Amino acid sequence: MQQKTYDVAVVGAGIVGLATALQAAKKGLKVAVFERHPRAIGASIRNFGMIWPIGQPPGKLLDRAMRARQTWLELSTEAGYWTSETGSLHLAYHDDEMAVLEEFLSQNVDAGYDCALFSPQQVLERSKYVKAQGLKGALWSASEVNVDPRQAIGAIAEYLKKCYGIDFYFNTVVTAVDFPHLMAYTQLFKIVEHIYICSGVDFETLYPSMMAKSGLTKCKLQMMASQPQDLPLGPMLCAGLTLRHYTAFAQCPSLAALSERFDREAPWYKEYGIHVLLSQNINGQLIIGDSHEYGLHQLPFDKAQINTWILQYLKGFAQIPELEIAETWHGIYPKSTTGATEFVESPAPNVTVINGLGGAGMTLSFGLAEEVLAQY
Ligand SMILES: Cc1cc2nc3c(=O)[nH]c(=O)nc-3n(C[C@H](O)[C@H](O)[C@H](O)COP(=O)(O)OP(=O)(O)OC[C@H]3O[C@@H](n4cnc5c(N)ncnc54)[C@H](O)[C@@H]3O)c2cc1C
Repeated sequence: MQQKTYDVAVVGAGIVGLATALQAAKKGLKVAVFERHPRAIGASIRNFGMIWPIGQPPGKLLDRAMRARQTWLELSTEAGYWTSETGSLHLAYHDDEMAVLEEFLSQNVDAGYDCALFSPQQVLERSKYVKAQGLKGALWSASEVNVDPRQAIGAIAEYLKKCYGIDFYFNTVVTAVDFPHLMAYTQLFKIVEHIYICSGVDFETLYPSMMAKSGLTKCKLQMMASQPQDLPLGPMLCAGLTLRHYTAFAQCPSLAALSERFDREAPWYKEYGIHVLLSQNINGQLIIGDSHEYGLHQLPFDKAQINTWILQYLKGFAQIPELEIAETWHGIYPKSTTGATEFVESPAPNVTVINGLGGAGMTLSFGLAEEVLAQY
């Protein structure tokens, strides 16, 4: 049998693999994507669907997020997936939270964020879900976009197949890469230009010794979805705990006092990496999470107590008339232990691993893939 030949092979049909395949196809290259499952079922379909530039620090990462946001919006019409330009609200119920928000705004006047400080009244006009009692104000950001990852990831793959002629090999695990060859299940392929490995949390199959030295670990996150709600969420919501999660706020002097208060009042937030975000999917379900547990060997068992803490914190800032949990799950993503925002390395000529985007893969992948593919 004749060996199949492609210019570019991409391992993994999660968001990183899809973004990489799109960029390669835009260069006119003939691309194949290999995915071990019948469809992508990793981190890329288990997330909030938050395209979240506000979490990125100013400069290179904010710029990357804003370019990626543009791609999400442009593709949505062509690929036929749902997006909502909801923006987001960081809600403040404590003086230290307001102080962080004010500091963030004054530090970033010309940084490229589209933000404003809202009074409680402005917040309540914008969102029917925000709890009014004790509300001191909020940071409004216009940039955040809500997608439904379960819908979008499949739709993008279909679109790449139809409009760019990319071949998708589902149910096909890649077991070995030795450029210019790639072994996919039992079939050997010849790759002319480049092989990109976007295998997410699988560090064990391809170049395991390099992955062992990559400085990446794994992070497990617990998530929930409510029964569908009649009311649209509007802006995606979060509150004080989130201010210590994203590096965008890391330079705010009041963050230390805020963090110290949380550690005093509820140390389990830090212990389990809990901060609480709220988005909505295309069916009206509220998507609620999350926690962060780190380690290379993650157990499959979810902790009911973590979900209880998440819901308790949620009720401090969101009023949801009928909050019935319909689904719980967890996702795992690779995360740098050194603070790196991505892992892009070549274990061999013409082979590149793109991984380690942590909790911002939906926000950054389209932008990162553009930068990586521009080098070849
Ligand atoms: C619970 C949760 C919430 C999150 N929320 C957000 C959010 O709202 N916004 C945001 O920006 N980011 C969010 N993230 C982060 C984001 O989802 C990830 O950064 C991103 O999905 C990682 O994409 P990926 O393509 O690297 O990995 P994956 O989606 O895991 O894809 C990797 C794919 O490679 C395949 N694969 C692996 N090895 C092989 C092989 N040898 N052969 C064939 N196929 C292979 C796997 O089957 C898998 O489908 C969240 C993550 C989680 C877990």
